[in-house]
Amino acid sequence: MSHPSDDETRGPEFWVVSMPDIERHLDSVPGWDVVELCRSPGGRPVYACTRGPKKQSERTANFSSAYHSGQPEAFWGEHVEQQCFMYVAGVHGAEMEGPMAAVNLLHVIENGRDLRGEPWPALRKAAGEMRLVVVPVLNPDGRARVEPVSLVGGTGDDLRYWNQGRWKDGADIGYPDCKRHQPLPLDEVEFPGGYPNDDGYNLMHDCTPGDIRTAEVQALLELALDETSDCMFNSHSYELSPGVIGYSTVLEGYAQRQRELSSSVEESLAARALRPRAYHEASGYNLVVALHLACGALAVTFEGPHGLRENPYTHEQILDCHLGAIEGALNFGAERGFRPGTG
Ligand SMILES: [Zn+2]
Repeated sequence: MSHPSDDETRGPEFWVVSMPDIERHLDSVPGWDVVELCRSPGGRPVYACTRGPKKQSERTANFSSAYHSGQPEAFWGEHVEQQCFMYVAGVHGAEMEGPMAAVNLLHVIENGRDLRGEPWPALRKAAGEMRLVVVPVLNPDGRARVEPVSLVGGTGDDLRYWNQGRWKDGADIGYPDCKRHQPLPLDEVEFPGGYPNDDGYNLMHDCTPGDIRTAEVQALLELALDETSDCMFNSHSYELSPGVIGYSTVLEGYAQRQRELSSSVEESLAARALRPRAYHEASGYNLVVALHLACGALAVTFEGPHGLRENPYTHEQILDCHLGAIEGALNFGAERGFRPGTG
């Protein structure tokens, strides 16, 4: 195992964030099946990596109908003990930490160690017999557009520019403009930032029933249904300390589970002195809520730190935040079952 070198232009060796480097790892980790889900508007493949036997879920209804029959197993299948954990990263291009963690996760599951050589025995044990589905980069267009390899030591201005871009008049797009436009009018921007795909769509909000515009989201929803996902762990990054965001707009029994999964994540992060942020419950709906409603998965957002100047984390700590959070989520699923009624 080689030692990480903190070269400014590349980051440490375990910090695998460019599309070509990520693809090289997908090709080289045995034990994972890699499939192309779809192509982005920029012509880039969106990959899913799977491991373990696929769940056998015989269905007689879609999830909505099964749920309202009072017999959700009509969707989930009778007596299916196996669980499917889905990890989806790279929805926003400037949030390179999730894709980096995804690549390390593939290695951890394969041989017990991340790309630094650090062992994660509890993570691997918790994953156990679960079906694992990893989408390392849902938005490869956004990922390819962002130049810095990391935002460690950067500023809020750096983050705003690389995430949400700049109008032609020189003003940052920022919030709420980045969400007021869907798609972003690309002829009016100097730089679209990493948020959207090459058609200007922020995938996080391409989730209105009857009006889904992107191949990436359509393919992800179909994948979650096909896999009968029990947990959807959606990885993002921001300026704050690492934490889980759940949603109030979920079916009965799930809000409590989101909170409990977060407690398990917080415990795992606190044990590594990574300063976890308290659980946050948001309202509204986005891609994560859409995935929950599509298949009844326990679906949460995880936000890891960028390591900006005002809230510093090192590259190593950022990897620990992501793998530690995954370990916490998997522990919860292994001990309690992800979905209500499973434990
Ligand atoms: Zn994000």
